[in-house]
Amino acid sequence: MAIIVQKYGGTSVADPDRIKDIARRIAKAKAAGDDLVVVVSAMGNTTDNLIALAGRVSGNPSDRDLDMLMSTGEQVTAALLTMALHDLGVEAVSLTGTQVGIITDSAHREAKILEISTEKITDYLKRGHVIVVAGFQGMDNSHNITTLGRGGSDTTAVALAAVLKADVCKIYKDVEGIYTADPRIVSGARKIDRVNYDEMLEMASLGAQVLQSRAVEFAKKYGITLEVLSSFTDAPGTLVCEEVDEMEDMVIRGVTVDCGEAKLTIQRVPDRPGIAATIFGAMADGNINVDMIIQNVSEDGFTDVSFTVSRDDFKKAVRVLEKVSSMMGAKGVSSDEKIAKVSVVGVGMRSHKGVASKMFNALAHEKINIEMISTSEIKISCVVDASDADRAARALHKAFELDR
Ligand code: ADP
Ligand code: ASP
Ligand code: MG
Repeated sequence: MAIIVQKYGGTSVADPDRIKDIARRIAKAKAAGDDLVVVVSAMGNTTDNLIALAGRVSGNPSDRDLDMLMSTGEQVTAALLTMALHDLGVEAVSLTGTQVGIITDSAHREAKILEISTEKITDYLKRGHVIVVAGFQGMDNSHNITTLGRGGSDTTAVALAAVLKADVCKIYKDVEGIYTADPRIVSGARKIDRVNYDEMLEMASLGAQVLQSRAVEFAKKYGITLEVLSSFTDAPGTLVCEEVDEMEDMVIRGVTVDCGEAKLTIQRVPDRPGIAATIFGAMADGNINVDMIIQNVSEDGFTDVSFTVSRDDFKKAVRVLEKVSSMMGAKGVSSDEKIAKVSVVGVGMRSHKGVASKMFNALAHEKINIEMISTSEIKISCVVDASDADRAARALHKAFELDR
């Protein structure tokens, strides 16, 4: 008998009717004879609402308390779905991350899974139960409840598939799979049949919020094929898997937009050896991740250095950079929160020329100014003004003929 891990996201379990519908789907899969482990997200916008609620009580809630609060969202869904399964005569049991034995590190709100005990799950599976696991959560070695970062239920599902050596990990969404761009932004976006781990990892890290990037990392590391598909229809989804030859024929697999970063510039800093080390050393000491970096050509011994950070770290980064600026005798710090990063991703880029120029031409044709550029073997990213982001994505999607 095959072990199948299924994961249902927030929209798929947004209200009682959706939960009952999902229960019927699970009952059908169970009747086909498979062993089922089902991971659920919080209903609809529950997690956002819980964070907002915390903000109404306290101006500065601790990360530990936020984890305690946010983890309740998934627990509610697990309980309700299990009740719905019982009503259909399906033997099922709901478990929190802690009850399963998902052990994480202690980095609240961004915890990493260290180990998962399979004992309890295997025991219930042997007794024929469907296991319903609250996603997104675990506990550290001191029994503190932790969460795995936004979108973390995807990672719970893939990690469980890895330790249980599941045959398939099916991730159910409100879309029919991975598309060439976010269908909410680009109306001509098409569903992709197969995407390889590296492309999916780039797309997820570059703003395609359809899968948490850590889930893709896990899938790649343990060789788990993911199927991303709809919980609303029975259409075939997208396979996220190892590369196959014909994948290289497609130069660009997808276009992404990331509105989660902000740009900082330190102006007229004396251009001498060690400035980059000082600036980015200070960022690292402040636990701030830096993404794109540009240093201007130096003029009369001074230069500007610009870089991007996650918007969550923006205020902290400005404070740190202002200190560095006065220490180094720079002119000052300027910043821009209204930026977006648009990217094109594809393993085919390795063997095709002219991708960058095509990208820059498409943006120029739309009169969209490029503020920063970064490239890797399989992606090119440009920072543009946030108000141009969606237009840029549509222009790139068309230029690379992804709508055909
Ligand atoms: P869930 O709650 O099930 O985890 P998410 O809301 O996290 O679902 O992810 C699904 C959403 O991701 C879709 O509604 C879609 O708008 C968005 N999305 C962004 N980029 C893509 C893409 N390339 N393909 C499919 N969906 C995408
Ligand atoms: N509920 C969490 C979130 O909204 C985790 C998830 O849905 O995967 O980020
Ligand atoms: Mg999600």
